[in-house]
Amino acid sequence: MTRQGSDGAAYGQRGATEYDRGFLAEVDRHQPQLVRAERYAETWRRGPLEVTLNPLCDWYPPPVKAALQTYRQAVLDGHCPACGAYSRMTEGFWDLEHGETCTSSPEALALMAGAAVLEMFPAGDPDAPPEV
Ligand SMILES: [Zn+2]
Repeated sequence: MTRQGSDGAAYGQRGATEYDRGFLAEVDRHQPQLVRAERYAETWRRGPLEVTLNPLCDWYPPPVKAALQTYRQAVLDGHCPACGAYSRMTEGFWDLEHGETCTSSPEALALMAGAAVLEMFPAGDPDAPPEV
């Protein structure tokens, strides 16, 4: 498999140490395993990598659910099916940098979820959750 970041740089080429390359190789040798599931957080492990993900809740609006599903798949597989980004290690830190227009990036998900909350709890709705 050829790993590439969203900027087209193959992992390990820039800023990656021997440790980084070994870490990713070890991640690639394992399948994702669910370690702990709580109401709003799931902890997954894939070899030396441990990540916390939002669970897929049934009540999420379909577009949010679809984007979150793709995001979760990207993190667990190390490859985003929406934008093609691959996970990589840079100086000891694991990351998956989605493309700017990726609909499953954390930023896109936050915007989509925020818009969905506004739809579910329009301004002036007495049942709306408090402002954070
Ligand atoms: Zn992506």
